[in-house]
Amino acid sequence: MGPKKKVAKKKKLEEESKGSEEQEQIGGQESDGVEEKRRKKKDQKRGQHKYIGAHVSISGGIWKAVDDCLAMGGRSFALFLGSQRSWQRPPLNSAAAEKFQKACSENGFDPVHILPHGSYLMNCGSPKQDVFEKSQALLVDELCRCTALGLCHFNLHPGASLGSITMEQCLEKIAEAINHAHQQTPAVVTVLENMCGQGSTVGGQFSELRGIIDRVRDQSRVGVCLDTCHAFAAGYDLSAAGGVKSVLDEFDQVVGLSYLRAVHLNDSKGKLGCHLDRHEDVGRGQIGLQAFRDIVNEPRLDNIPLILETPGRPGFEYPEQIELLYSLCKD
Ligand SMILES: [Zn+2]
Ligand SMILES: [Zn+2]
Repeated sequence: MGPKKKVAKKKKLEEESKGSEEQEQIGGQESDGVEEKRRKKKDQKRGQHKYIGAHVSISGGIWKAVDDCLAMGGRSFALFLGSQRSWQRPPLNSAAAEKFQKACSENGFDPVHILPHGSYLMNCGSPKQDVFEKSQALLVDELCRCTALGLCHFNLHPGASLGSITMEQCLEKIAEAINHAHQQTPAVVTVLENMCGQGSTVGGQFSELRGIIDRVRDQSRVGVCLDTCHAFAAGYDLSAAGGVKSVLDEFDQVVGLSYLRAVHLNDSKGKLGCHLDRHEDVGRGQIGLQAFRDIVNEPRLDNIPLILETPGRPGFEYPEQIELLYSLCKD
């Protein structure tokens, strides 16, 4: 998805979240609803090893992400850690960070099921020195925010060569930025996202992700988030019979399943190998529902966040898509 579309989507997320805040103010009924959903989730047996959730808004306070997730019936979530528009962001408020950590622990959200998403401004593979340096600094800032929030994973789009350096040189730069950020910050794992292979973007092929991992000094601090729409658009056929299994087998051979920390659950508007980043609602795109059924019944995807970033449509927004996915779980 291009930056413009992402900004539009973020705006949409914020509007959605405003909508739910308004609802909450109507006589406290909505908060009873959240309580009920919380209890329901706890008692739910079906899909108990699957941590399905969605990308939630942080508008009105980062701690609100937790209630947003609960209100959707989610068990995992993604969020941005600051504005998507500026390189320099005001420091994270420590009271807000504390409130966030409290909300997570009170509601039983383990940090491994929360996946902050990096700023779209970042290009750690940029051949332009100033962009590279700003990206490197922003990556350090993002990892510091994770630490302050008690989070252990950070999701990053690897970068793009913009056609003026080779793929190898681009992988080298990305790893350099990651190594630098790891030196400056403790413990947080940098989670590389596979991309759809559009233009000079790195990470469409699993081998490119492997190429970055090979260059990261502390390999216990690097992982991968597999975006199903991106994989399909890059040419990995999740829609074929047994496609989920064979794509995961290939991932295991090339990257290694031990690096898999999360999945972005998105259907694709574009066809197999189209190299276009166009997310579609679960089961409504070219990947199709069977693949999602296979995903939520795949034991290799137990206990990691499975996060929706779908556009949503009336009557089939995140809560309904999460409900549908849980209903597809066989046990
Ligand atoms: Zn995308
Ligand atoms: Zn992403």
